[in-house]
Amino acid sequence: MAQVYERVALIGLGLIAGSMAHAMKRRGLAGHIAGFARTDETRKAAAEIGFVDSVHESAAEAVKGADLVVLAVPVGAMGKVAEEIAPHLAPGATVTDVGSVKQAVIDAVGPHIPEGVHFIPSHPLAGTEHSGPYSGFATLFENRWWLLTPPEGADPDAVARLRALYEGVGANVDTMEPGHHDLVLAVVSHTPHLIAYTMVGVADHLRRVSQSEVIKYSASGFRDFTRIAASDPTMWRDVFLTNKDATLDILGRFTEELFVLQRAIRMGDGDHLFDYFTRTRAIRRGIIEAGQDTDAPDFGRVRKG
Ligand code: NAP
Repeated sequence: MAQVYERVALIGLGLIAGSMAHAMKRRGLAGHIAGFARTDETRKAAAEIGFVDSVHESAAEAVKGADLVVLAVPVGAMGKVAEEIAPHLAPGATVTDVGSVKQAVIDAVGPHIPEGVHFIPSHPLAGTEHSGPYSGFATLFENRWWLLTPPEGADPDAVARLRALYEGVGANVDTMEPGHHDLVLAVVSHTPHLIAYTMVGVADHLRRVSQSEVIKYSASGFRDFTRIAASDPTMWRDVFLTNKDATLDILGRFTEELFVLQRAIRMGDGDHLFDYFTRTRAIRRGIIEAGQDTDAPDFGRVRKG
């Protein structure tokens, strides 16, 4: 595949940046990949794994001469990083981010971006519950969506080039208005994570069922909640603090529906429950038909023995 950027600077070297680097290297999309992470430990790990060509002591150093800068740190850290790198950005460079929330990142990063540098926020709808430099892998973005939220009047060539990079790593690319992005993500990702955190918390607090029973008899429903609830605490704290309105909106609707289901159970209204579960099953079928998950029973987990 043809090279899209000469020099890419990755600020943050965890799951997303690491996966981008592995994928860009595998497909020859970047001439040189420069990296910076906050701790010496992560910088050393990235150099050792070899997904970056150079590791730098500061974000300012890393972005020098880069034609693409990717901010891949927690959402709450984006503004400070942008302030630090701003004076060192090359004219004509593109700055993007991979944050899970868009409007808050635009508000925090946008004011620091100098004239002549393109700021095109983005968000890959791909991830795992793992984090850190060892968690990345080249195929993470394959057949996953990568949403761009370019500001009005964004340079079409800069947008097209970023799109080419993301398509190059295997993603399907769409553009969206940032506020709408945050609402959609509150529905498909942020609120479900909060519910998973809550369910695992409930099991943890319940005294009548011991912790060892929860672990021993953990069936797919609870097990899938625990996987989601093992996601990075810093990342998810920042998501809820910065996508507050949309998450509270969806959570309010969720609570109302939960009360309706609770009442149906109490009243023995089986028709209501059956109709409700029939509708939700159709949504699952839609996700599978769209190629966004496997149709194999229990997500294709192989049983041993
Ligand atoms: P990660 O694996 O935890 O990596 C985060 C990186 O940011 C690490 O290199 C870390 O450096 C650095 N960092 C953390 N706090 C920092 C700070 N205050 N200042 C400067 N650097 C800091 O996280 P990730 O999963 O790649 O997530 C990165 C971004 O992608 C987040 O904005 C997240 O919302 C978004 N995202 C995540 C997922 C997902 O499923 N994980 C999916 C889509 C988008 P050290 O290791 O040195 O501390």
